[in-house]
Amino acid sequence: MILKRVLAFALFFAAFALNFTLSTTLKLAAQEPLQAMPYSPSLDVTSLDRSVDPCVDFYKFSCGGWEKNNPIPADQAGWSVYAKLGNENQQFLWGILAEDAKAANRTPVQQKVGDYFAACMNTDAIDALGEKPVAPELARIDGLKTRAEVLAALVRLHHEFPGSFFFGSGTGQDAVDSSVVIVELGAGGLGLPDRDYYTKTDEKSVKLREQYAAYIARLLGLTGESAEQAKADAEATLKIETVLAKASLTRVERRDPHKTYHMETIAELGKLAPSIDWPLYFKVQGAPGVASVNVAQPEFMKAVEAELGTEDLGALKGYLRFHLLTAAAPYLAHPYEQANFDFYSKTLRGVPAMPPRWKTCTRAVDRSLGEALGQEFVRRTFSADTKAKTQRMTEQIETAMQHEIEGLDWMSPATKAEALRKLHAIRNKIGYPEKWRDYSALEVKPDDYMGDAMRSYRFENARRWAKLGKPVDRDEWGMTPPTVNAYFNPQMNDINFPAGVLQPPLYDPKEDDAPNYGNTGATIGHELTHAFDDEGRQFDAKGNLRDWWTPEDAKRFEDRINCVRDQYAGYVIVDDVHITSKLTSGEDVADIGGTLLAYIAWKKQTEGLTLAPADGFTPDQRFFVGMAQWACENQRPENLRVSAVTNPHSPGFARIDGVVSNMPEFAKAFGCKAGQPMVHAPMCRVW
Ligand SMILES: [Zn+2]
Repeated sequence: MILKRVLAFALFFAAFALNFTLSTTLKLAAQEPLQAMPYSPSLDVTSLDRSVDPCVDFYKFSCGGWEKNNPIPADQAGWSVYAKLGNENQQFLWGILAEDAKAANRTPVQQKVGDYFAACMNTDAIDALGEKPVAPELARIDGLKTRAEVLAALVRLHHEFPGSFFFGSGTGQDAVDSSVVIVELGAGGLGLPDRDYYTKTDEKSVKLREQYAAYIARLLGLTGESAEQAKADAEATLKIETVLAKASLTRVERRDPHKTYHMETIAELGKLAPSIDWPLYFKVQGAPGVASVNVAQPEFMKAVEAELGTEDLGALKGYLRFHLLTAAAPYLAHPYEQANFDFYSKTLRGVPAMPPRWKTCTRAVDRSLGEALGQEFVRRTFSADTKAKTQRMTEQIETAMQHEIEGLDWMSPATKAEALRKLHAIRNKIGYPEKWRDYSALEVKPDDYMGDAMRSYRFENARRWAKLGKPVDRDEWGMTPPTVNAYFNPQMNDINFPAGVLQPPLYDPKEDDAPNYGNTGATIGHELTHAFDDEGRQFDAKGNLRDWWTPEDAKRFEDRINCVRDQYAGYVIVDDVHITSKLTSGEDVADIGGTLLAYIAWKKQTEGLTLAPADGFTPDQRFFVGMAQWACENQRPENLRVSAVTNPHSPGFARIDGVVSNMPEFAKAFGCKAGQPMVHAPMCRVW
């Protein structure tokens, strides 16, 4: 009941704000599937705020109008150009899924995505089941009598259920030999977004831990636990997680790949954490006979051992029950889903209202069957022309990077040769995978949502463990095609741009080169620069962790990174919380380098052409406005607080102002003078 009131209030507010900016029909249209992707240009004059001086705050100048025109929807923690496009993708996929759910003569791919969606949409059936889908497993945990039984259950839970049970395990490329797939054990076991949430003593952090304990008790109470028992289990869970958190590396420490690389034999692992029968553990996961493992965080595994070896049995069981439930909650009846939303979205991120069911279900299909749904998406949205043009843009930006490296005055020829070798080995992956993942072994039923979710989880788990002993699949993608994002993978040494991110207003076939190179070009440059940021530079052309820098060059690089760190540490995220620039420096350097590379590539592309001004901007100004407008956003303060701890990216305004203030090309385009805020001194430039 309380939720309904909040929801009505939030919708009223949103509608009120929209009256001044967008038509209300657009608001209503947001509740219908989209038959085609809507269009907005990559340089949008309605997003500007021309009352702001571009030399004082270029982000505000480029995005002030967008901020006013795009209030945060009630079901979102924040809203941005990327998030809005992501939402439109989902709305478009919704129509496809609704059709695939009921169409006759479906292809096998359409059957899977359609039935998964139908099962998720059938909330009456899901609600009628209550906690039944997890009841047998909860009863098994309840019935555990000895420590040995608890440990055996932990091993089995890791194989059968999603959930953060003490630690994580899986497969990955060996950091020093990227051609080999190895087993990795990682830190985990926490219900809050980061270890820092358990260690900080400020008022807001203390209160949040109380609210988290209340959530744990609420969830356990829903299964019929007495209030007293649920409270005790919540306290025990928080106590166990605090021990694990304190033994976990910080996010900044984890950016150092040497700190998370510790190969150990199974015998050595057995000495580190003797409570678990490791040969049995890996056999149960589907990987018998594992000889050695990367124990990413040995100190953390010691803490796990201490907990498993000495913690009260009742406490361990309460912890397992909670982690099983909190992972299953989104797939269970409404009260579970609501409790999960109330803590993780409302309390933690300030989101007033649950997303509509279609959105929850579209996301669920993307998560579980991403490359099946992706085929449906790509077929309808991604043209051969866009693929060819963005491929060409990528090659031009790589050429710009080559010339930059060749021309650096601070880098020795020996390091340059290695850098160029690495640059030329980078693979460009654009749009979608060469070969689609085969889901034929995965059973999907139209009336069994939890079953579908668990079968998909086990299917994916098995797929990952099966990589052991096989050559690395260089064609694999880490994002699904509709995703509005991009990435660089240092071990694959590849840059990846899903079809979802190569659409208007990011890549706009209707616009000329200036805003497109500013926007998508800078994104391509961003991912490419990751290969040479403070983390990426530690990997070589083969994707191996190997120091290819002379000590002098490494020192000069670090000096340049420190310039960027000092600059960004000055920006405030929310209240009095500054950017943790040791966490964000890789992204900040990628933003600065990426924009410069895109600018150089654009200049080359338009060499000899006479470019006309438009919208009151010179061509150079249009490049920069196009660049800035990818980052327009509004964020709830609660979400900004989460970002400050967990997000390696700086907030939108810093990603624009931090970049342009380091570019004389920008200052020249807008006539900015030394001493103005958008002319940073000293100018920080790495690449
Ligand atoms: Zn990045």
